[in-house]
Amino acid sequence: MIGSELQALIQLLAKLPGLGPRSARRVALHLLKYRTELMIPLSEALHTAAQALKICHTCGNLDTQDPCAICANNNRELGLLCIVESIADLWALERSGSYKGYYHVLGGTLSALEGIGPEQLKIPALLQRVQSTGVREIILALNATVEGQTTSYYLADALKTTKAKVTALAHGVPLGGELDYLDDGTLTAALGARRQL
Ligand SMILES: [Zn+2]
Repeated sequence: MIGSELQALIQLLAKLPGLGPRSARRVALHLLKYRTELMIPLSEALHTAAQALKICHTCGNLDTQDPCAICANNNRELGLLCIVESIADLWALERSGSYKGYYHVLGGTLSALEGIGPEQLKIPALLQRVQSTGVREIILALNATVEGQTTSYYLADALKTTKAKVTALAHGVPLGGELDYLDDGTLTAALGARRQL
């Protein structure tokens, strides 16, 4: 029998991506074993992050400031807007160091099965943003999955009415591949070889 505090901890840990009940139990025991070195600093870091981090209203990135450091940076290329599915993808492109424009995080992909339409994603906000700012080129950097590509084609169509050129990542992104797992070189090549949609 385990106490309700431990039970609650395990149940919460089991909700983390990649963890099931069994690995959650292992993590809980590990945390308790390294209480001072790990568990207490981790709980403080979680608390601080939960208080300090906010979603950027312009692009959907996470930062301690809104607009985020990328949106607030006037030295980036004003006419370039890169569309990504998630914040993790935005960070992957930033790590590659090969992109100097701005971003727009959709927050997922279109999925008829899961009832996710344009309204559930940041698509209306994107169309408005493109219309109200002088975007010259929109780079669709969605994952090379079926959902990612379906969303890309939907966006390419929806963006036809704007003056901006619409391009997409090309070679280097394997089918079924997710941007966050690519090495920086592959991502840089895919960005360099983008094609018009
Ligand atoms: Zn931002």
